[in-house]
Amino acid sequence: MVDNTPRNHGPAPVAAGPAATGNAETGNAETGRAAPGNAAEEAAGQAPGQAEQTDVLVVGAGPGGLSTAVFLALNGVAPLVVERHPSTSQAVKATGQYPHTMEALEIAGAAQAVRDRSRAFRSDFHMVVAKTLAGPVLRTLMSGRELSMRHVSPQDWGTASQSGVEAVLADRAAELGARLRFSTRLVSFTQDDDGVTALTENTATGERRTVRARYLVAADGWRSAVREALSVPTRGRGVVGTVLRVLFRADLTGPLAHTEGAADARRFTALHIGRSVLFNTEIPGLYGYFRNLTPELPEGWWKDRATLEKQVEQDLGISGIPLEIEETGETDIACGVAERFRAGRVLLVGDAAHVMPPTGGMGGNTAYLDGLYLGWKLAAVVRGTAGDALLDSHDAERRPYAESLVEQQFANLVDRISPELADDQLAAPLPPPVIAFGYRVPDGAIVREPDDDGELFENPAAPTGRPGSHAPYLPLVRPDGTDTSTTALLGHGFTLLTGAKGADWAEGAADAAAALGVTLTSHAVGSPDGPADRDGAFTAAYGVGDRGAVLVRPDRFIAWRSPEAPQDARSEIDRALRTVLHRPAA
Ligand SMILES: Cc1cc2nc3c(=O)[nH]c(=O)nc-3n(C[C@H](O)[C@H](O)[C@H](O)COP(=O)(O)OP(=O)(O)OC[C@H]3O[C@@H](n4cnc5c(N)ncnc54)[C@H](O)[C@@H]3O)c2cc1C
Repeated sequence: MVDNTPRNHGPAPVAAGPAATGNAETGNAETGRAAPGNAAEEAAGQAPGQAEQTDVLVVGAGPGGLSTAVFLALNGVAPLVVERHPSTSQAVKATGQYPHTMEALEIAGAAQAVRDRSRAFRSDFHMVVAKTLAGPVLRTLMSGRELSMRHVSPQDWGTASQSGVEAVLADRAAELGARLRFSTRLVSFTQDDDGVTALTENTATGERRTVRARYLVAADGWRSAVREALSVPTRGRGVVGTVLRVLFRADLTGPLAHTEGAADARRFTALHIGRSVLFNTEIPGLYGYFRNLTPELPEGWWKDRATLEKQVEQDLGISGIPLEIEETGETDIACGVAERFRAGRVLLVGDAAHVMPPTGGMGGNTAYLDGLYLGWKLAAVVRGTAGDALLDSHDAERRPYAESLVEQQFANLVDRISPELADDQLAAPLPPPVIAFGYRVPDGAIVREPDDDGELFENPAAPTGRPGSHAPYLPLVRPDGTDTSTTALLGHGFTLLTGAKGADWAEGAADAAAALGVTLTSHAVGSPDGPADRDGAFTAAYGVGDRGAVLVRPDRFIAWRSPEAPQDARSEIDRALRTVLHRPAA
């Protein structure tokens, strides 16, 4: 939960040429600073006019960029990723992966590696509000099995650090064929009707290269220079405060004795005490401390070590324990959502698209999920199985969610450490399972039903099965008696789930998908050869009859459903897939 970004660290000076803000459909082909044949290229030994080609250029190798790279590669489009730092982040940042993130990591083939890097108490956080480090606990925010979402997901939480997950994703992306180029920054870019021309620079040698890509993914963090170069403003509360970050070593075995696994780092533990938060890192004896910087203390007070130590002791209610301070810094806490998540051939993910306070732990989690939701769409467009307009749904589907999340996390900030920020606009808190699995895509790459009430959230424990909602998780039993689930049936392509008597759908669906070049697998739940549900749970949760069918997207959202038997399965599935993929009617 510690971010090493220095305060007021301005955006890297990425320059966009004149065409950069234009829509790809209407923009002019302009040459900008990255034009082929420029002096920088020649100096680097790149032949004039010979830009390096890639389908997708991803800028930034944090959670958003790496996840997008993995899901692009998984869907057959291996991108080039450039990252200005020499490696993935080593800093102590976020800890904790929500179960829906773990579902995404499972699809990516990276979940086990993340579990392996999780704390010994793998899916059990302990987050409380306490009077002092030694207690008493005033309020429990999240602890033990009450965190479990096993009623709506087959996954538990992960408790790996952000740096651990980044390393796993980088390995997985490379294994799937993505090219990761570290110590390389994006200098400038232009876009035209057919693609993006980018100038990159090796930060160690100064070598410059021109890269020509069909699309660019801006995953360059909350002060996104790509977003700024595109003149896409952010909306929201802006910077709402500043926290002091301190990383220190101490033996806190005594005060933390009340919580098993806290002092030896086997269990992720965070205590909110007054205006500060103390949390353990994965290294025993190394702790993070954040303090809300309020005006009552003079600016920069913490730069004096003795004063800082005294304040930490006072905040935590400890004394006589030597503190060895390793690192200090300030981080702005901001709330903002980009006005558009797409600008022509540039797509925004992660903090570049939406920045939120850390209270609630959704910033990194949302960045991982942006990769799941964008990756299959962008790969389908690049591979020609979807129309370019499918990419507009990235904005339509993700932005309303981001806007809601930012306000949820802001409300948590007010509740936990910054009561002075309270106003009458505060969001009502949503239960974590609703935030994770209850989000509904209001509009986008779905076949919306005429009586859809347009609600953004539903209770995933009482699912509607509507297009735009998350495919409900139901435990199932295979014919050989082993356990499986609806979630386990979903691969990384489209899936058609039918009722027990829905066999008529499968052949037509397979033909329609093959003709469109789309991967689709079918399962008849409750049929003699298929997995069995209990007490008609499938038809109840998915809202279809025994002969009905549900089409699930690669990212686990329901795309379309038919409650009844098909009239003509092939043409009905063809129509649904064409609508979702924004392809012209047959
Ligand atoms: C104090 C704090 C605590 C947090 N705690 C949590 C938590 O508990 N749980 C949680 O889920 N989230 C948490 N977050 C949020 C989380 O860390 C971020 O949301 C997450 O890192 C966003 O990922 P990203 O990939 O979008 O951006 P980043 O992680 O910022 O990655 C962007 C990358 O782009 C690179 N880059 C930038 N410009 C260029 C360029 N021109 N060329 C090449 N590369 C470039 C950067 O070097 C960087 O590596 C916390 C954040 C803070 C500040």
